[in-house]
Amino acid sequence: MKIETKAVHWGDRRKSGSFIPVTTPIYTAASYAYESMDQLDRVFGLEESGPSYARYDNPTRSALEELVRELESGAGAIACASGMIAIHTALLAALMDRPKHVVAANMMYGATTGLLMNVLGPMGVETTHVDVCDLKAVEAALTESKVGAMIMETISNPLLRVGAMDKIAAMCRAAGVPLIVDNTFATPLLVRPLELGANMVCHSATKYLAGHGDVLGGVIVADQANYDALRTLSRTIGPVMGPFESYLTLRGIKTLALRVERQCANACNVASWLATHPRVERTFFPGDPRHPDAESIARLFPPNRFGGLVAFELREAGRPEVFRFMEKLQMVVRATSLGDVHTMILYPAMASHRDLSPKHRERLGIRDNLVRVSIGIEAPEDIVADLDQALSA
Ligand SMILES: *Cc1c(COP(=O)(O)O)cnc(C)c1O
Repeated sequence: MKIETKAVHWGDRRKSGSFIPVTTPIYTAASYAYESMDQLDRVFGLEESGPSYARYDNPTRSALEELVRELESGAGAIACASGMIAIHTALLAALMDRPKHVVAANMMYGATTGLLMNVLGPMGVETTHVDVCDLKAVEAALTESKVGAMIMETISNPLLRVGAMDKIAAMCRAAGVPLIVDNTFATPLLVRPLELGANMVCHSATKYLAGHGDVLGGVIVADQANYDALRTLSRTIGPVMGPFESYLTLRGIKTLALRVERQCANACNVASWLATHPRVERTFFPGDPRHPDAESIARLFPPNRFGGLVAFELREAGRPEVFRFMEKLQMVVRATSLGDVHTMILYPAMASHRDLSPKHRERLGIRDNLVRVSIGIEAPEDIVADLDQALSA
């Protein structure tokens, strides 16, 4: 079955007593009783599947987990309260019985870098930052010292670079290092990291999976070798998503394939229009044939789908000019987050990469004239028209 079909059918329509609900209800119960003590015993012992306590299992959450597990080709999934707690839990699970040393992509979501530096660092976890587009550097980082886990993003933030994930996965495997991939920007519609050899996949479900700007959530999907440890850890610390958010995410994913298809098509349109605009200095888009990672993109992505994110630099602009441009936008929403049905714009120097020094940003190539747009499902003409009127100063 194709992934578009699975997105609509998986997880739902479990028998409940004498009937089958067409969509999974929101189960709010914190605990679950069984008629026989033997059955409760089997449920507690994980010999029979079923809920007993909401930190362990919740039927609404389980339906979502089953769906995302299937979309990402994993052995099991845990739906979490946020993308960040999903990443934190995946790292904890990987590092539990391994060396406390992480190799991390040098250009990641700001809070992920913060988690490594400001939370795990003081607890004794060392991090080596590498450019995942430099395979020699990755190889060196993985072999020069004892490493417990590697983490990277399918598409980097905000410059939209794409590392050779298949080759990196092979290097990790050879070094015996589990690879965790944050697949938030790509979604399983574009890239399925576990099929390429990664061991755990994380999502901020807040973004494309839920897709409507009304959920904070995350998901971890693990391969067989890592799922049991992950589930045991999750049952202990309870990073889990609540039933209401699980319901909204489950509902959102039914249209994920349609949304992503439209967002990708719109993004191609907007990116090629921006590339010729006199006020735009440079565009960053994985569909650009001159993209520095074009080879990896051609190998890893489906034809003509490059995600819904586009970044660009305004010509001869600094912070005041960027502010003026953003304030002139009438329809495009000026807010953090991405992957929603509406087009959104973010100024990385002020938002996602605010906490980095100007020098550090410069080193990463994030200039003060860079903005990042998350393209929505609107009519492409309307997105272009709004950007156009705001660009014509
Ligand atoms: C938003 C985001 C996160 C964090 O997710 P939250 O749901 O905000 O906790 C992590 N990684 C990426 C790539 C993101 O875009």
